[in-house]
Amino acid sequence: MTHRSSDNEFIRLELQEREAKGRLRELQSADPIPGTAKVIKSGRTLLNFCSNDYLGLSTHPFLLERSIDFSRRFGTGSGASRLVSGTYSIHEELEEKLANVFKREAALLFNSGFQANTGILPAVVNRNSLILIDKKCHNSLLQGAILSRATVQRYRHNDYEHLKELLEDSNKKTYNRICIITETIFSMDGDRNDLEQLTHLKKEFNSLLYSDDAHALGVIGERGLGLNVAYPAIDLSIGTFGKSFGAFGAFAACSQQMKSLLINTSPGFIYTTALPPGVIGAIDAALELIPTLNDLREKLYTQISYLKSELIALGFDLGESNAQIIPVLVGEEKRALELSRFLETQGCWATAIRPPTVEQGKSILRLTLTAHHSRSNIDQLLSAFKQWKNR
Ligand SMILES: *Cc1c(COP(=O)(O)O)cnc(C)c1O
Repeated sequence: MTHRSSDNEFIRLELQEREAKGRLRELQSADPIPGTAKVIKSGRTLLNFCSNDYLGLSTHPFLLERSIDFSRRFGTGSGASRLVSGTYSIHEELEEKLANVFKREAALLFNSGFQANTGILPAVVNRNSLILIDKKCHNSLLQGAILSRATVQRYRHNDYEHLKELLEDSNKKTYNRICIITETIFSMDGDRNDLEQLTHLKKEFNSLLYSDDAHALGVIGERGLGLNVAYPAIDLSIGTFGKSFGAFGAFAACSQQMKSLLINTSPGFIYTTALPPGVIGAIDAALELIPTLNDLREKLYTQISYLKSELIALGFDLGESNAQIIPVLVGEEKRALELSRFLETQGCWATAIRPPTVEQGKSILRLTLTAHHSRSNIDQLLSAFKQWKNR
């Protein structure tokens, strides 16, 4: 007697359950209007407050031109994985530039941040290792930790007392390696880690430090180069190109030896086709452009503080955010969804972030600002929030 349900019954049940809980997610298309913070969604023009294209580079002529140039010269696909025939001169040159700009011995390209995080961890730790990961780390880091088969313990968000306790506890066992995993700007809350303290702990407990700089790159730090760059003690400094770089892909900045290890053992690096020339061109151009964009970043910071202070004045709780990611703490899942829908009726697009992405009862409306948002765009959003309050 089998307890297996027939055919595809499980799919129907799973979807039904999600529907009943109001958690059935569906894709929604919206096309960008280049050079603005606007999109066309279902025939309506909306202001986009949920894009990670923080500097608006994805439609920048400088990136487009080099992307087209590289495509014309090298083709639209790279034809093979990096270890076979997919390493072109442009891949190597970009890795050299990345290593120079980020002041590390070496850099290695990955096809996405998700692929980097799930591909690197299984290469550097194993079933005899311990991973200590911040509770609020991005899902890709957690997936990588699980894939690595190491013992995984999650420390309370940015709580280094707790991390230290776990590190002290680890002395009771014979782990071959310990890896501390963190993010510089946390992707949901917009708050930061403390790399000063983390590098001390890493040294004190002879551990590896893995820090994902996805949301800081391009936006924060000297010349917009993120927060990891100032801490050479970080063993694996991860950056992504899908956010402020306006392109796609990711990289690890590390030692030359670490790079060689990854080339030899990281499944997410080895078993995939190399990034296409057009993408390499866009990244290459963004890498040149980003350090020169201090004025744009200043503009973005001004808009961030304006939006934050006005929202706080209206009585909204923004948590610990200290970046272009601004969570409006709502709490109840249904209310977050209602707020998101209300804002959309007012021409503003921002997504509600609900469990399981955040804990039960801690739903947020996540706003992101980009350099394309004008003061009047932000005023339109603020006016929508005002109306929500006064309904
Ligand atoms: C966005 C993000 C990723 C995933 O990067 P992709 O290139 O979009 O796959 C990984 N880590 C963090 C912290 C992120 O915010």
